[in-house]
Amino acid sequence: DVPRLLKMQGCQGNTLPAAPRRARCCLHVENPSMKARVVIVGSYVQDLSFYVAEFARPGETLPADLRPGAGGKGFNQAVAATQAGVPTLFIGAIGHDAAGAGARDFARQHGVRAEFVVKKKEPTGVASIAINAAGQNQILVALGANLALHIRDVPIRPLTGAEVVVCQAESDMKTAAHVLRTARRQGAVTIFNPAPMHAKVDLAILRHVEVLIPNEAEFVALVNRSPRSGLKNFTTEALLRLAPDRLHALCRTFNVPIVIVTLGARGCFVSQPDVYARVNAHGVDAVDTTGAGDAFVGGFAAGLVKFNKNVFEAAHFANAVAALAVTRHGTASGMPTAREIARFLR
Ligand code: ATP
Repeated sequence: DVPRLLKMQGCQGNTLPAAPRRARCCLHVENPSMKARVVIVGSYVQDLSFYVAEFARPGETLPADLRPGAGGKGFNQAVAATQAGVPTLFIGAIGHDAAGAGARDFARQHGVRAEFVVKKKEPTGVASIAINAAGQNQILVALGANLALHIRDVPIRPLTGAEVVVCQAESDMKTAAHVLRTARRQGAVTIFNPAPMHAKVDLAILRHVEVLIPNEAEFVALVNRSPRSGLKNFTTEALLRLAPDRLHALCRTFNVPIVIVTLGARGCFVSQPDVYARVNAHGVDAVDTTGAGDAFVGGFAAGLVKFNKNVFEAAHFANAVAALAVTRHGTASGMPTAREIARFLR
């Protein structure tokens, strides 16, 4: 019950101020195939998930159950948003190989629009994911074709028609910056998910971002790299000890209108200029948290569309999408449907 939750937390669910909609680009044509309300530009990766009792130590070989599946941060987010009930277009790059063909098949079967996915000479991205009995994961990823997604591969037209445009840091960052800048000029809400943590995110991209969604580790990395934070050795432990008003003040140093820090089983912290609050996670028995962040970001993008840009309603909805996703194995294949989400939230 979001209104009651917000009342308890002493805040109003702010709605994003409508960005001025500029005159549409002259290339824009009202074509039904362009009607995606969310556009996600990012990575596709074939996941090879190895389920093990415990992680292998250096030099050790262990037996495992293998489950291959579709993944990649961008693609997972697109599947999450689509299945949550909002028409979503995924734009990314794959190779001329079986893994790339698998991406198109998965997109078709799950209703994700993927007509602008480009084929590159590099192989489709592949991730090796080890998941232990506690549901923790260790991931190695070879991004391949994702890093070759160039600015000229991303058509302008879908960006001009979208309400929400999302990028992550798992593909070429120049392309991501171009997409976010273009989308924001056209009046779309721009979301940037600075994942994975090791990515060298150029903070200049934040100028084009309206909603920044890092997890705890990504937030800590950004704080340490941002000259405005005044911190150099900030840690996740220190983050967890911060009082909400201090965390809010740190979020404001990025100069991004809305910052949402995902906090695993504790939900997320939402910081807007005039209001901040933690939105609790939903209690579930997690079996595989791989892709939880992607479920949240895709769910949040869909939630903004569904709840008329109300940030707190969208965060509550995103927590539900991610809670359901962590009760299942797999990343893209673990995303819940709109009906499942509605039943869960009832
Ligand atoms: P990953 O890198 O594994 O995709 P992440 O570290 O980016 O995940 P988290 O902050 O761990 O993302 O989780 C994202 C969201 O998923 C949380 O904000 C919460 O809504 C949900 N979530 C994660 N773990 C749990 C859990 N155990 N129970 C309920 N919800 C969870």
